[in-house]
Parts: sequence; structure tokens; C-alpha cells
Amino acid sequence: KAVASERRLCTQRSEEIMRDAVNVMPGGVSSPVRAFRSVGGNPIVFESTKGSKIVDVDGNEYIDYVLSFGPSVVGSANDEVIEAVSTQARKGLSFGAPSYLENQLAHAIIDAVPSAEMVRFVSSGTEACISAARLMRAYTGREKIIKMTGCYHGHGDSFLVSAGSGVATLGLSDSPGVLKSVASATIVVPYNNIEAIREVFRKHQGEIAGVFLEPVVGNSGFIEPLPGYLAELREITKQNGALLLFDEVMTGFRISYGGAQSHFDVTPDLTTLGKVIGGGYPVGAYAGPRHIMETVAPAGPMYQAGTLSGSPVGMAAGLKTLEILRRPGTYEYLQRITQRLVEGLLDAARSNGHEACGGSLYSMFGMFFTKGPVHNFEDAKKSDTEKFKKFHRGMLEEGVYLAPSQFEAGFTSLAHTEDDIERTIEAARRVLARIP
Ligand code: PLP
Repeated sequence: KAVASERRLCTQRSEEIMRDAVNVMPGGVSSPVRAFRSVGGNPIVFESTKGSKIVDVDGNEYIDYVLSFGPSVVGSANDEVIEAVSTQARKGLSFGAPSYLENQLAHAIIDAVPSAEMVRFVSSGTEACISAARLMRAYTGREKIIKMTGCYHGHGDSFLVSAGSGVATLGLSDSPGVLKSVASATIVVPYNNIEAIREVFRKHQGEIAGVFLEPVVGNSGFIEPLPGYLAELREITKQNGALLLFDEVMTGFRISYGGAQSHFDVTPDLTTLGKVIGGGYPVGAYAGPRHIMETVAPAGPMYQAGTLSGSPVGMAAGLKTLEILRRPGTYEYLQRITQRLVEGLLDAARSNGHEACGGSLYSMFGMFFTKGPVHNFEDAKKSDTEKFKKFHRGMLEEGVYLAPSQFEAGFTSLAHTEDDIERTIEAARRVLARIP
């Protein structure tokens, strides 16, 4: 194997900023995964981003596969999105009252997402999931929900039970401060294990309000549903009078324009959305059929509200993002470059003697340092996180910014060029040749 990297990444300013940040914010960050706890080293502090590139405060440029953890599917700081946002900002940042932009984005979502007949806008994916869980309970009159290990649905109390993303990265199984009575109403099963779900329904007949899952998991790394799994969940929930919810905060408008439910042709009762529908602004939504959604106040009794919900600037960013995604060839392009990327990364790993498995769907991808197959978080945990750590550091040195955890999916965008992809694969070859 080749000698250690000759590249040196100068991150002096990032380090200075983080030395200050840890004194004024817990862990120095506004969200835990950003702290680089699982990959070690100082987090990179950024200055600007455009298209597929992101530039740090020391002037280093990286090809970006984090893309703000998902929203920037058309490329970061897209000119058309900025224009739409600027035009709206000049008309007003927030009304705290209805705007026609909400109707327009609601219609765009309803036209695209099979389960959506009505939409309620909120300001984050977390809020969407908290509200949708309340709706499940309000509509069914039942209290328990089922979630999957390693799936992340934001930081609502009901979901901080065997959660993925930062919770998994930090090795926390749950969180102190969550009411035991709330956590105990969440039953956890492994993803891609239909028998485990059947068992829970047998044991808790008439008690389950619904099943919550990421239809394609992105918060334990990238994991696809086994053939028939989503359809079976649909069948079992129906038979038991429980609701099925696809958390498409990550997969919405990413795993095809209509989301994973459209790609896999399985329609859940409820859907949560976020990330892409805000085009880089804080927007979330939950959606479903009229007879369920009209449980929400003021149409019905279930309360949920928000000062900045449906923020006009966020609506404008989301609308323009979806308009760009509807153009011919977008998803085919994303599918093609991302497949090539993963094929190249896997080959770079295996040809250097590393066990690896991975995959992609449209612009979402992942690679684990384990022989695999990885069908759920339990499998994902078998991957070599020490190796990932070295890989992550090596890729930073090569000018490639990957999510700072083995348990996060990667993303591409319409701004990623074939040259970006080939440069990334070449960088991976060099890095993986250096790792023992
Ligand atoms: N659901 C899924 C599937 C997510 O990936 C995330 C965030 O990563 C959330 C919910 C929470 O969204 P937010 O971070 O906007 O609160």
C-alpha cells in the first residue's frame, strides 16, 4: 500500500472558530452530527456553497455530498431559487396569515405524492413527524406507534427510541428527558423484518395507532426496502385498522418526483415531508387523505400551529425547486451519476482489499465498510466505523465532503457533473489505497 497522504488540509480558521463555538453553544454546534464526534478531528466551518461545491473558512473547496443533509437536490444556491426567494423577500418575509404561495406548493405536493390529498405546512421535519404522530393517535383513538430501529424522525419524544442519525452516531440508544410514558408508547422493530411487525400486531391487538418508517432508510446509512416489504406493511396495517406513515422528509422528491411511495407503488395513509420542499429554507409538511387531515384544527379538533408555518420565502424556494425537478431528464440524470459514483466507490474499496457494500436510488446513496448485505441498522452496525473515519478524513484532504458519520446517507444534485463524480472516485482510490 502507498505511503501516507502528502496532502495537508489547512483548517486553522475552522479550528479557531470551533474553539470559540464550544464556549457558546453545546458541543459548538446547532445540531449534533455537525460536531464530527464519530469521525474525529475538528469540524469544518463553511463560508459559502454553490452548485456541487462548498468552500470552508480557510478557502478549501470540496465537492459536496452532504448538501445540507438533503435539501439542495437542484444544487446549492441555485440561481433560479435565489431569484424566486429574493423576489418574495422584497414582497415580505412573513405574514403570519395565508398567502397564495401555500396553495401553490400544496397543489404541487398533491399532484406529485400519491397519498397527499391535503397538506399542512410546518417549519421542520421534526415538527412534521411530531404532528403526524399526534394525528395518527387523534384519528385512530389509539396510543401506540411502531417505529424501526435506526430510523430517524426528528427529535420528538416519541421518536427518540432506538433512533438513527445523530442519535446512532453518538451511540445513544435514547435520550434522557424523554417522558418514560411517552417512550413506552413507541414499539421498536428492526427494518425489513416483516415477522417482527406481525408479532407486535398480534401482541397489541387494537392498540397500534400506526407504523412510522423511512421507506428507504437514510439515517442508518442508505438502506433499501426488501422486495415486497413496503407492500406487506401496507397490507398488515390495513388489516389491523392502523395507519401507515412514510417519513419522506429525506426521500420526498428525491426517490423519484413522487417520492419513494411513487417509486415502489405503495401508498401510505400519511406522509411527512421536509428538506427538498423548502429548497434550503426551513419547511416541513404532513399530508394525507382528506378524511384524516380534516382531524387537524381548525377543520377538526387536533391542535397544531406555527408562527412561521407556510413562510412565504420558504414556499417560494420550494416551489422553484420542484419546478426545476419537473424538467425532463432530471431524475434520469441523478440516477445515472449516482449509480456511477457508487459503482466507482465500491470498486475503489474492493480493489484495495476492503470489504464494502452499498447502493443508490436516484440522488441518494451510501457505502458501508462491511461485506453486507445491510438490510437494517443491526446489519449496518457491523460495518468498520474506524475505517470509515480514516476514509472520511482522507476524502476531506482530497477535497470531497462526505457526511461525518457511517450512519448517514450521501446525496448528489443536478449540479454534480460527471467530472465531479470521476474526480471523487479517483480521490477514493487514492485514499483507500492508503488505508490498511
Ligand atoms: N425524518 C427524516 C427521515 C429525516 O431524515 C429528518 C432529518 O434528517 C427528520 C425527519 C427531521 O427533520 P428536521 O431535521 O428538519 O427536523
